[in-house]
Amino acid sequence: MKQEEDFEANLAGEDGTGEETKRSWFKRIKKGITTSTAEKKETPEGLWSKCPECGYICTMTELRENLFVCPKCTHHHRIGSAEYFEILFDDNKFEVLFENIRSKDHLHFTDLKNYGKRLEEIWSKTDITDSIRIGKGNLKGIPFVVGCMDFEFIGGSLGSVMGERIARAIDVCIEEKIPLMIICKSGGARMMESAYSLMQLAKVSGKLSQLTDAKIPYISLQTDPSFGGISASFGMLGDLNIAEPGALIGFAGPRVIKETIKKDLPEGFQRSEFLLEHGFLDFIVPRKELKEKLATVLSMFKN
Ligand SMILES: [Zn+2]
Repeated sequence: MKQEEDFEANLAGEDGTGEETKRSWFKRIKKGITTSTAEKKETPEGLWSKCPECGYICTMTELRENLFVCPKCTHHHRIGSAEYFEILFDDNKFEVLFENIRSKDHLHFTDLKNYGKRLEEIWSKTDITDSIRIGKGNLKGIPFVVGCMDFEFIGGSLGSVMGERIARAIDVCIEEKIPLMIICKSGGARMMESAYSLMQLAKVSGKLSQLTDAKIPYISLQTDPSFGGISASFGMLGDLNIAEPGALIGFAGPRVIKETIKKDLPEGFQRSEFLLEHGFLDFIVPRKELKEKLATVLSMFKN
């Protein structure tokens, strides 16, 4: 009781009554957090964004209006399938296909976590069902199928579900004579599915040759980052291989390469500009010009 009185006195700016006060000044009287959840003031999440390249700070609204491209230095922020579909499809209208195909823990693989549990956790947290979403809609009136990877889902890794969804998307494209684009954003094959994920390289490449036989165009758009099994197969198999500015694209990471060849790597190594210069890409397209440019390309293919 004495302590409480002294505490009140301290709050009021008075000295209190003696030695007891001095000792109790830093003592916590009531334990725990007393603010009720209802009164708690939440800081709105993601209201501000800082550019990792130039440090420019802007609101999320401003960044969204700018298609997630930094207004100051034009750094292209990493975005997911929802954002790409919104940018590409007319009036943000599209149909999402093959969401019912889901990953399974065939190998009972455990790294830091059990793979099955890892999947359950992601499914409960987001509405993304695997590392690629297939959207079918219109781009400037032209029917278009887009497969877009989500880096958020185990690093956009290539597993059996991604392989199967792309394969079925290709079937739709052949049946309905619709061009296909895959937006790559991945670290490579999914370790937890081991050989099953590697088999997808051959499977998708095979399906793409059926698309070629049917004379239907396939565009590969590589964004930051496109690595491993993705860039080693269908990422580079497009009738047009295009990329966003400044995207990191390669097979192995720069550190591994440097250690293997024991030489310093040239400046801008594995950036899309470097790849364009060395003939790996057809062109680089800024996100703001993407829709317009694709419409031009698609109508050229059509004629
Ligand atoms: Zn910036």
